[in-house]
Amino acid sequence: MEFRDLKKQYQVLKSEIDANIAEVLTSARFISGSQVKELEQKLAEYVGVKHCITCGNGTDAITLAMMTWGIDEGDAVFVPDFTFFSSGECPAYEGATPIYVDVEKDSYNMDPAKLEIAIQKIIAEGKYSPKAVVAVDLFGRPADYAKIRPICHKYGLLLMEDGAQGFGGSINGKMACSFGDISTTSFFPAKPLGCYGDGGAIFTDNDEWAAVLRSLTVHGKSGDDKYNNIRIGMNSRLDTIQAAVLLPKLEAFKKYELAAVNKVAEEYTKRLNNSCLTLPIIPDGMISSWAQYTIQLPEKTDRAGLQAHLKSFGIPTMVYYVKPMHLQGAFEGMASSRADCEVTEHLCKCVLSLPIHPYIEKEDVEIVCEHLLEYIDE
Ligand SMILES: *Cc1c(COP(=O)(O)O)cnc(C)c1O
Repeated sequence: MEFRDLKKQYQVLKSEIDANIAEVLTSARFISGSQVKELEQKLAEYVGVKHCITCGNGTDAITLAMMTWGIDEGDAVFVPDFTFFSSGECPAYEGATPIYVDVEKDSYNMDPAKLEIAIQKIIAEGKYSPKAVVAVDLFGRPADYAKIRPICHKYGLLLMEDGAQGFGGSINGKMACSFGDISTTSFFPAKPLGCYGDGGAIFTDNDEWAAVLRSLTVHGKSGDDKYNNIRIGMNSRLDTIQAAVLLPKLEAFKKYELAAVNKVAEEYTKRLNNSCLTLPIIPDGMISSWAQYTIQLPEKTDRAGLQAHLKSFGIPTMVYYVKPMHLQGAFEGMASSRADCEVTEHLCKCVLSLPIHPYIEKEDVEIVCEHLLEYIDE
């Protein structure tokens, strides 16, 4: 059993993907081929925003957003404590100080009440100026934008949505990657929509920022002239081959993959419901892209023992995440390490992510649940 079966997906989409890759090889337009533009248009349309700018990966996407806003030394950027490293790494890379905010136990996402407390604390201390919030759609569930957006407004902060895991999710029909002033995603192979290498995208309705982002992805070029460089930028583009891979994958994602992965999550929830496990909850009106199906184990459970038990039956599991952001060595001795995040610390000890993807068989879900429950019930 695969944790995320990319081989199976390729077998299903092989003829289209192979043909698309061959077309790029024949045309030799490896950089900025027409497939990149076509993909950007389709992504913008799907997400429901005006501009989509593709780039090298999801980490660059966040950094490019920070660069566009001029996030710099002395700025505070509020980031959930329970996330992948990039969410905090990118503001820190720009010299800003990530301030880690605890998450909610049920949603795994930034706790809006604790965000406001953290903002007030930074204002009271007066050492850093609050600039932006990076909200993360962890494991595919969109963050609580109905509460986070008004807080950003109240304190004059920019809102970035890190939708690396959220692409495809929605709240009352509004799509993930449309909730931020700038939103980002990743096409890392194992993400909800993945390519065959690294890739990423940035979304915004703001014309001015979109133009700056386009410039920043190609060495700070002026308009279409890449030899006239008007700002310090990066070299961060999506390869034409990756766009050619993503075009049929996006169609499959829209047509059936997102629905299929939601069915798998439903099956897990149905089978694990009457146990002592804490299951992921998606409120009415919200759709998750199920980047992960992450459960919380009872306090007494030996997580490593359970993983070994499952592995003996060929069942792969993962722990996302082992360590809170504020305890990562990179922030040792810095203001970012001073955080009050007891929920995150608890989650890091008891979460476990189960195999999930659109192509997993119902029987496999059954096997995972059977062996999981037999260990828990012992
Ligand atoms: C994967 C991920 C990223 C980074 O994406 P890359 O394409 O791997 O650089 C950023 N944020 C979150 C929440 C992620 O899961």
